[in-house]
Amino acid sequence: MSKSDSEKTTVDQASKQSKPKGVALLSGGLDSTLAVKMMLEQGIEIEAIAIKTPFCDFDCGKGCGHKVKEVASDLNIPLKTVYFGKEYLRMLKRPKFGFGSGMNPCIDCRSMMYRSAKEHMLKTGAEFIITGEVLHQRPMSQNPRALKIIEEETHTKGMILRPLSAKSFPATYVEINGGVNRGDLCNISGRSRKTQLSLAKKFGILDPPNAAGGCLLTDPQFSKRIRDLMQHLQVDELPSDNDIELLKLGRHFRLSRFTKLIIGRNESENFKLRSFICEFDVLIEAKDFPGPIGILRTNRYEHSQVEKASQMVLRYSDSPREFESEVVISHDGKTSNLSTFPMDTRDIEKLRI
Ligand code: SF4
Repeated sequence: MSKSDSEKTTVDQASKQSKPKGVALLSGGLDSTLAVKMMLEQGIEIEAIAIKTPFCDFDCGKGCGHKVKEVASDLNIPLKTVYFGKEYLRMLKRPKFGFGSGMNPCIDCRSMMYRSAKEHMLKTGAEFIITGEVLHQRPMSQNPRALKIIEEETHTKGMILRPLSAKSFPATYVEINGGVNRGDLCNISGRSRKTQLSLAKKFGILDPPNAAGGCLLTDPQFSKRIRDLMQHLQVDELPSDNDIELLKLGRHFRLSRFTKLIIGRNESENFKLRSFICEFDVLIEAKDFPGPIGILRTNRYEHSQVEKASQMVLRYSDSPREFESEVVISHDGKTSNLSTFPMDTRDIEKLRI
């Protein structure tokens, strides 16, 4: 190494050492990736934290659908992933700040994420938190009032730096003390991605991910299902992982307070549904005609409900509408047959969740 090279290395190390360290909430989407890039450009050391919930799986290839681990590796930053399980479901039963347009409790959800990032910040000796939030991009959680509430709830006032919209917010501690150069930050606001896409180009992000599809809790159809599930739990009961995963498949029908029916929509769903059958479930399938499987989930086996479910399963099979056909019923290690008519479509629709 030449003398000038070693002098440059020493200067680089000295400037890095004098820079604060930040913890970034990384989803793998474009906004949080850009936020990290902007910090790395300023020579800031970053550790990332990625949050997974039962409704938002960053590796699922849909919904939020970003490959966060690959993004962190491309950015060359350490990544910690955190799973919110039961504590998230507990919050979802009674979110302090309510829901958005679906069953999305965004203020409570972001508060949990901020808390987790803050914990990681304290553990790793970092001084601030970076997010890819853009002012007014999302109606429930990215407006000044909501962001203020989230900071107050999590005692993070002055610690959250949002590089994409920083100039629209009061300066954070790290900007005030000169650790981050505010002049290089942006003031993006709203839902347009124009500025983000030109930043992506500037940073050489060749294939910027699409805008996040959002988590399942913002999906109207899924919201109906999770709301129905929550409404039929006991006061202190939480849904199981199996209950939640089942919500992502098939057609759902509420038959009674204690009973719901899930019917597969195609062969691949039928296959997946079988893997979710639990001890007390009743499995129903047409005996002599091709068709879907039905899972009757209940904690009270009642013949009338099994018959009703059988009529519904038959309706979605190739059995004739005008004659009785048989279904095979499997329950508690035993199988039996039942002969009945398919239910009328209008009656089925009244039960759909
Ligand atoms: S959209 Fe979903 S993951 Fe995002 S803040 Fe709202 S509830 Fe949380």
